[in-house]
Amino acid sequence: MKSQSNFSLNWSGNIKASPKIIYPNNLGELKKIIKEKNFIIAGNQRSFGDNSVNTDLIISMKNFKQILNFDKSKGIIEAQSGVLLKDILSLIIEAGWCVPVTPGSKYVSLGGMVANNVHGKNIINNQIKHHILELKILTEKNDIVTCSPTENKNYFDSTIGGFGLTGCILSSKIKLKKINSILIDQEILEFKSYNNFFSLLEKSNSYEYNVNWVESFGNGSIKGLCYFGKHKNNNTSHPIEKFSFKEKKIDFFNFLILKIFTQNYYLIKLTKFMFKKLKKLFYKKTSTFDEFFYPQDYFINWNKIYGKNGFFQAQFLVKEKYFKDIMNKISKFFEEEKNFSTFIIIKKFDEKGKYLNFYGQGFSISMDIPINSKFEKTKNFLNSMFKEYDVKVNFSKDSIVNKDLIKNKKDYLEFVKELNLISPERKFNSIFSRRLEI
Ligand SMILES: Cc1cc2nc3c(=O)[nH]c(=O)nc-3n(C[C@H](O)[C@H](O)[C@H](O)COP(=O)(O)OP(=O)(O)OC[C@H]3O[C@@H](n4cnc5c(N)ncnc54)[C@H](O)[C@@H]3O)c2cc1C
Repeated sequence: MKSQSNFSLNWSGNIKASPKIIYPNNLGELKKIIKEKNFIIAGNQRSFGDNSVNTDLIISMKNFKQILNFDKSKGIIEAQSGVLLKDILSLIIEAGWCVPVTPGSKYVSLGGMVANNVHGKNIINNQIKHHILELKILTEKNDIVTCSPTENKNYFDSTIGGFGLTGCILSSKIKLKKINSILIDQEILEFKSYNNFFSLLEKSNSYEYNVNWVESFGNGSIKGLCYFGKHKNNNTSHPIEKFSFKEKKIDFFNFLILKIFTQNYYLIKLTKFMFKKLKKLFYKKTSTFDEFFYPQDYFINWNKIYGKNGFFQAQFLVKEKYFKDIMNKISKFFEEEKNFSTFIIIKKFDEKGKYLNFYGQGFSISMDIPINSKFEKTKNFLNSMFKEYDVKVNFSKDSIVNKDLIKNKKDYLEFVKELNLISPERKFNSIFSRRLEI
C-alpha cells in the first residue's frame, strides 16, 4: 500500500495542509486503515472545496477501479468507486448508453460523483441521485452495508451528497441513459438584457441541456451566451462512434496568455469579450459529447493559471425574485473592490432534495474567484449576502461558508442527526465537516 504527502489536495489549489495520503489496494487493506480514528476518503481530488481533505490522513480510492458489471441490454453499470468517469464513458458510449447526469469534468471518480451528488447541464432531474440504484458502503464500524431506495434507505439518502461522511462508498450501481449518437445538437444564442435572457430560457422546453455563460453584468444589465443541447437522434443501425478525446496539458504560451488575461480586473473584461466573439465565429451546430459536456477539460491542468494561492468557487441558488438584485449587488462589490470572477455560469434550477444537497428552485450562480489580497473581504461579502437572501450554497464546491449560515437550518440539523446514528465517532471527517461542525 503506497502512501504520499505534499500532493495537490483539491482542484482549486486553495488548501494549505500536508496530510498523508494512503492508497489501499484491496478491501483488506482498506478495512485495516478504517480502524484509524480520523481520515477522509478521496476519489480523484477534483472537488473545488475542502470536503475531500483531512489535515492528517486521506484515503485515496484510486486503486479501486474495476467495472463490476455492465448490462448492455438494460443499461445498468456497477463499478468500484475509484473508476473515473472517462473510463466509464469509453465503455458505455459505444454500447449506446451515457451517464444521465455529468459534471463538467470527466476526470472525476464514480465515488466522488455520488458523494457530491453532482449536477450537470440537465434541464430536469439534474442530480446524479435520480439515477443511482444501489450502493455498497464500508462504515466506520467496518461493516459493509448495501443500500438502495428500498433497503437501508437512511444510508442511501445520507451517502448521496453526504460528502464522504457516512462511510467509504465501495461501489455504485447506476441506471444509464440510452443514446443512439455520440453527437449533440447544439444552439448557442446571445443575450443582451435580463428580458432577453429570460425569454431565451423558454427555449429550454425543446432541449435536454442548458447552461448560460455571463460575459458582463451590473446596473440592471446582463450579457452573455445561452447554450442549449440535445442528443442527436440518428435513426440508423450504424454502431455509435467510440468516445474519444485528447488529453492536452497547457503549453507555456497559453499558460502565459491565460495567466495575464484572466488575472487582471481590466483584462478579464477584454478576455470575456474576445471569448464571446470567437465562440460566435467558431460556433458548431453539432458537437461531440466531449466538446459539449467537457469544454473545461480542454487543458487538463488549467487550474495552474491561478498560481500558488489558487482560487475558490462559490455556487449558490437564489430565488428568482432576488436574482437581479443579487447580480447587481455582486457587480457593485466587484467594481468597488476591483475584484472579479473569471467565470460566471448561471443555470435555472428546480430540484427536490434534503440534508445538505444542492436543491431548490431559482437560479444557480457559479463563480470562480482568484484568491488575492481581497479574499477576506470577498468571503465576508458573500457570507453576509448568502444570509441576507437566504440562499442555498452548493456545499460540494464550498470552502468559504461560515457555520452561522446553516447551524439553525432544518436540513443541517437533520443531516447531523442522521450522521449521529450512522457515524457516531465521526472517523470520516474533513476540513469541510469540521468548519461547519457537522
Ligand atoms: C473542470 C471541473 C468541472 C466541474 N463541473 C461540475 C459540475 O458541473 N457539477 C458538479 O456537481 N460538480 C462539478 N465539478 C466538481 C466535481 O465534479 C465534483 O467535486 C466531484 O465530486 C469530484 O470527484 P472526485 O472523484 O474528484 O472526488 P473528490 O474531490 O476526491 O471527493 C469529493 C467528495 O467525495 C467524497 N468521496 C470520494 N470518493 C468517495 C468514496 N469512495 N466514498 C465516500 N466518499 C467519497 C470525498 O470525501 C469528498 O467529500 C467540476 C470539477 C471540475 C474540476
